Amino acid sequence: HAKAAGRNTHAVFGEHMDELLRRRRALESDLRFAVETRTQLETFYQPVFNATDGSICSLEALARWKHPKMGYISPDQFIPLAEDIGLINDIGALVLDNACRTLADLPGISIAINASPLELSSPGYSLRVLTTLANMNVSPERLEIEMTETATADNTIDLKRTIAMLRKAGVRFAIDDFGTGYSSFSRVQNIEVDRIKIDRSFIGEMHQSGSRAVVVAMIGMARAKGLKITAEGVETIEQRAELERLGCDDLQGFLMSRPLPRQDVAAYVSRMART
Ligand code: C2E
Ligand code: MG
Ligand code: MG
Ligand code: MG
Repeated sequence: HAKAAGRNTHAVFGEHMDELLRRRRALESDLRFAVETRTQLETFYQPVFNATDGSICSLEALARWKHPKMGYISPDQFIPLAEDIGLINDIGALVLDNACRTLADLPGISIAINASPLELSSPGYSLRVLTTLANMNVSPERLEIEMTETATADNTIDLKRTIAMLRKAGVRFAIDDFGTGYSSFSRVQNIEVDRIKIDRSFIGEMHQSGSRAVVVAMIGMARAKGLKITAEGVETIEQRAELERLGCDDLQGFLMSRPLPRQDVAAYVSRMART
């Protein structure tokens, strides 16, 4: 009896795994197609604001995949998939291309792109970035690269060399989702960066004294090291007021603006500049 039930469970579980695997394979080949044809991948831009005067200081470029059948798929899903199947460099190049084009169209603004450590430490990365900037006549000072903390491909010599080379050319670096990695503070010691972006999980819990204390500590550390500070995921007026009080440099979040499709960016930026 028990044995039969066990076998049954196994059969169901096995079927489920097959189904998951089948779906994953399909998604992989769909992503390959999207990258090859350059059709379904778009770049959205989320405005980032100066905490002191409320002006727009930059845009964060965020990859979007508009799947023909499933609609928009989150980068939290397809970026790890792209890393797994060797497509991350192609997607990164696509976003970089789009971002540089937008930079060329919108003088006076800077743009941040996201790069996984895997991409950053792959050969030719720094050359690709500098070439793309040069081809579009965009000054490297207008580009910032956000790297997410991950356990792998961290602190490698290649990664450090790439960062050093790009920083020397004027490109700035930020540690994204700061505080969520297991080695946030040691990373800031080991890698030369210009900015930290405090992860939105801390901002969302700032009404709790414990989380607020962590935010205060992160800001104190960044100040002491001369780093710029962005708070991400600002969703309420209370959070914004508190972050201004604490001396955060820049603010990003749904309270001010969601990520915008490319065609809406220019109008948004000029509207903000007028008010
Ligand atoms: P991230 O770099 O930390 O980007 C911020 C994410 O938070 C974005 O999600 C943005 O839409 C979301 N967000 C912004 N403000 C708020 C808010 O007030 N509340 C909430 N709940 N969310 C907010 P998105 O666009 O889904 O991107 C998710 C992650 O995917 C990014 O996190 C980044 O790590 C990764 N990603 C996106 N584009 C790229 C890319 O081109 N290359 C790489 N390597 N990774 C990317
Ligand atoms: Mg980011
Ligand atoms: Mg982030
Ligand atoms: Mg994130």
